[in-house]
Amino acid sequence: MNKTEILKYLHENGLSPNKKLGQNFLVNEAVSGKIVDSAGIIRKTVIEIGPGLGSLTEILIQQAASVTAVEIDAGISGFLSEKFKNSSNIKIIHSDFLKYIDSEKYDAAVGNLPYYCSSEIIFHVIDAFFPETAVFMLQKEMTERLISKAGDAAYGALSASVSLYYHYDSSFNVDRHSFFPVPEVTSTVVKLVKNKNIPEKQVRDMFHLTVKSAFWGKRKTVLKSLSDSPFMNFSRTAVSEALEKSEIDEKLRAENISTEKFLKLAENLQKDRDYEI
Ligand code: SAM
Repeated sequence: MNKTEILKYLHENGLSPNKKLGQNFLVNEAVSGKIVDSAGIIRKTVIEIGPGLGSLTEILIQQAASVTAVEIDAGISGFLSEKFKNSSNIKIIHSDFLKYIDSEKYDAAVGNLPYYCSSEIIFHVIDAFFPETAVFMLQKEMTERLISKAGDAAYGALSASVSLYYHYDSSFNVDRHSFFPVPEVTSTVVKLVKNKNIPEKQVRDMFHLTVKSAFWGKRKTVLKSLSDSPFMNFSRTAVSEALEKSEIDEKLRAENISTEKFLKLAENLQKDRDYEI
């Protein structure tokens, strides 16, 4: 959709973009096409988060086998149902995506995400759908946090947690003037691809507690933050032993510990817990 079409719809319906819902609509059709192409969704099943007025949706349905588009705004989802009433491969769902689950298997998740809850949306995509690929438009800083590695300035709990499930494939920046209204921030489209070996649930749960604990005590050493953590209950000796087995220096801080090392640590802590049981 271009800017004229979007302004026409908003005007005809007496609406203005809802800032609280992060409604910055894509009005650059070339960018919309580039996002959809980067997702590689030909004949695939797609879940779209926050379709808005359908800038990406109208291209997605031309390529994908099917599209489920989940939109929180009642007026907009009504508009979309009308707009796509003659398309047989799209389902419009009026729902808060953070509360939405279904039993479909999706190959890809695509979305120009509302920035106020983009990390929650990413975790919900992983927990509820876990598609092979995910293509998100995010605030540039958020993308940096998502794809940074241990030791980078932007590395944090989000980077470590998401990279247990997905690795970085590609990204590109999008000019602010590709949106209406023009946002204050710069946006980046990032493509993530699912990792091959995902650990079993018990280890994943321990991994998340370990990462949360380590970053909770960010300025502390990993030995201290894990021993004092309000999220888990290991003695200083148990943490020290698990760190040694994982070949992690106990004086390191969370921001210098890689996802792989956190995983090793979680496995060793889990073994210790199995032993206790
Ligand atoms: N995809 C459209 C585009 O590119 O023009 C709209 C993108 S706009 C940045 C974000 C969209 O997500 C808005 O339509 C907004 O109403 C919707 N949204 C916001 N919060 C949501 C939520 N929790 N669940 C589903 N949709 C949401």
